[in-house]
Amino acid sequence: MAIETLSSAQSAAWKDRVLPAVEKVAEGVWAIPVPIPNNPLVYTYCYGIADGSGLILIDPGWDGKDQYLALTSALESLGFTVANVHGIAITHYHRDHIGLVPALLHKNPDMWVAMHGEDLRSIKQFFSQSVDLGTGVDPSINIARAYGVPEDRWAEVESLQVSGKNGSKNAKGSAGSKNDFALLMSSMPETVTILDDGSQLPMESGALRALWTPGHTYGHSVFVRDEDQLLFSGDHVLPTITPNIGLDSGAITHSLGDYLGSLDKIGNLDADVSVLPAHGFRFHGLHDRRRELIDHHRQRLNEITERMEATDDHSVYSIAQGLHWSRGFDSLRNFNLFAALAETAAHMHYLDIDLGVGSLVPQG
Ligand SMILES: [Zn+2]
Repeated sequence: MAIETLSSAQSAAWKDRVLPAVEKVAEGVWAIPVPIPNNPLVYTYCYGIADGSGLILIDPGWDGKDQYLALTSALESLGFTVANVHGIAITHYHRDHIGLVPALLHKNPDMWVAMHGEDLRSIKQFFSQSVDLGTGVDPSINIARAYGVPEDRWAEVESLQVSGKNGSKNAKGSAGSKNDFALLMSSMPETVTILDDGSQLPMESGALRALWTPGHTYGHSVFVRDEDQLLFSGDHVLPTITPNIGLDSGAITHSLGDYLGSLDKIGNLDADVSVLPAHGFRFHGLHDRRRELIDHHRQRLNEITERMEATDDHSVYSIAQGLHWSRGFDSLRNFNLFAALAETAAHMHYLDIDLGVGSLVPQG
């Protein structure tokens, strides 16, 4: 069984990796593509949802002038300005989802911002640099060494850990400059509305409920509109790609188990719910897609078990080397290498395999 696209225009744009047009996707709901610079995902869908005389936004997208213009001109074409935005609901704290929040708030300080407390905590830890955002461990720890990465490749992995006072060591890459991003995020409001599992968004009209779906990030949430069966799935369920699991603060310890649990959780939703993801295209077939994602991770776990038996070197790097990667392990560089190692580590942890970081990884 396969999923079924709900928009040939969105599917075509995704296939060609070009920006699709703004599209009305349900009564009072619009998908607004906001570009992501130098990234194979090309854009994030920000969803505008009518609310009284204005609207709310889910995930306004990456920060930047072009992005702000893309979003605000889309709003204008729908008859709104930033002053009409009542609030912003966030699925998770990644930059391609929350980047524009400070700029929008600056323009309209009256809007609310709502997100799960665990992702707000991640943002705060990120500023204080008390943990590395990618790994959830003390940033002074050499995760590359712990993972068994050959010394001549340490810089590729280290460059993605948040650096301390010594300034940015960030490589150019899809991760972008994390220090700039941190600066921007320091203007996140202190008064974020905390969403729990089942919280209703503070809307003037209509109803949207949050479901906590930890996995891609620990505080990831999806939003459900029950009246017409819409699922705003963020990065939890995407039509053609598997969200990275393992790239989150403290996530090594529980991300995959959480993710599989969160796939189970949305198994309660109606079979013909319309899935409105942050990347790709909208589709029907949530439960088929859930099964594909679960199979993908089961297969990964089997591969790891086989690799463990085939080699004596049980470091994360060595295990990752033996797994199947779409463009081959040797083509993985910088951020992609880091993401692959994080993903491998998350699967190994799920299998109770020692990651070589021992007590460095918070237990729980
Ligand atoms: Zn995303």
